[in-house]
Amino acid sequence: MAEIRLRDVTKRWGSFVGVHNFDLTIADKEFLVLLGPSGCGKTTTMRMIAGLEDASEGEILIDGEQVNDKEPKDREVAMVFQSYALYPNMNVYENIRFPLKVRGIDPASHHERVMQAAARVELNEFLDRKPAALSGGQRQRVALARAIVRKPKVFLMDEPLSNLDAKLRVSTRAQIKNLTHDLEATTIYVTHDQIEAMTLADRVVVMKGGVIQQVGSPTEIYDNPANTFVASFIGSPAMNLMEGEIQNGTFRAENVEISGLSAPDGKVTLGFRAEDASTVDSDGEVNAPIYTLELLGDATMVTVRIGGQLVAVKADKSYRAEIGEQVSLKIPAKDCHLFDAQTGARLE
Ligand code: ATP
Repeated sequence: MAEIRLRDVTKRWGSFVGVHNFDLTIADKEFLVLLGPSGCGKTTTMRMIAGLEDASEGEILIDGEQVNDKEPKDREVAMVFQSYALYPNMNVYENIRFPLKVRGIDPASHHERVMQAAARVELNEFLDRKPAALSGGQRQRVALARAIVRKPKVFLMDEPLSNLDAKLRVSTRAQIKNLTHDLEATTIYVTHDQIEAMTLADRVVVMKGGVIQQVGSPTEIYDNPANTFVASFIGSPAMNLMEGEIQNGTFRAENVEISGLSAPDGKVTLGFRAEDASTVDSDGEVNAPIYTLELLGDATMVTVRIGGQLVAVKADKSYRAEIGEQVSLKIPAKDCHLFDAQTGARLE
């Protein structure tokens, strides 16, 4: 069992607040992703759980026990960093074995445990090599093996894929998901990459400026973003957002008219996802010139310019048109998201 609870955890340095009132319970075996732009407080939150940073206020509990004053080595958490943090003078075998030595685990069990961990991440043939003689992906697998060798209850991973190339990132991502599932460990994973968050997480915590913006399953935050920040951070491309005004259930902005909305009159921000809109021959809700066309393989991304804004729509892969050509877009009212024009908060 490893349930992690953060109770109103705040981190400040002088008057600067890095993490503000972080309050969340992470369930045993859950895969939780902390997602947000650079500087939003993800790493600091994770370092407080690891014990590498003190919380200024609030409580951190692991399995009901307050750990605020416990040393990192006594918290039964294993960390994997972006930089791998391997010991350059030790070979792969010794790197993987190191956590067992430090914690005084019975030496008689070391060999079997190291071999098991190495096998789990397919490193058997590299055991004699020093980190310098490994590729980036192999080094990251050593870091993973070193983390799993102790069979920790909690895994903390800070951007573990960001030094890998795109293809390796996808395969290592799948390996991490499979590994943490098998180990039945509670995992907290930090990233600024929303695709990593969506593919790995049971739940995602979206953060901005040290403050939690939304907590939910990938589907929840994709389908029901709590505000315009989350809407524009999740999804590729991000949700299209337009400023405008609603009158009698009809949203109007330059070259845009969408009726059938149920919302009170007034200024709003309207959002819709590229895949919810479509190109039509005429009578769409939006009429605008094509700004650019991008072939994605399985679809064509059509971007139009409305006023000063770019709006993306996913069309069929066989869609053909010219840049500058006038196009009409169908945007079903049921797929529109409405947000407060001032605060950006979702309107229900
Ligand atoms: P990144 O993705 O760039 O790593 P992050 O979301 O992980 O960003 P944190 O590293 O948690 O962000 O930092 C949160 C904020 O706290 C940042 O504004 C950072 O500058 C600040 N911060 C971090 N460590 C310290 C420190 N030791 N002293 C003062 N401010 C700090």
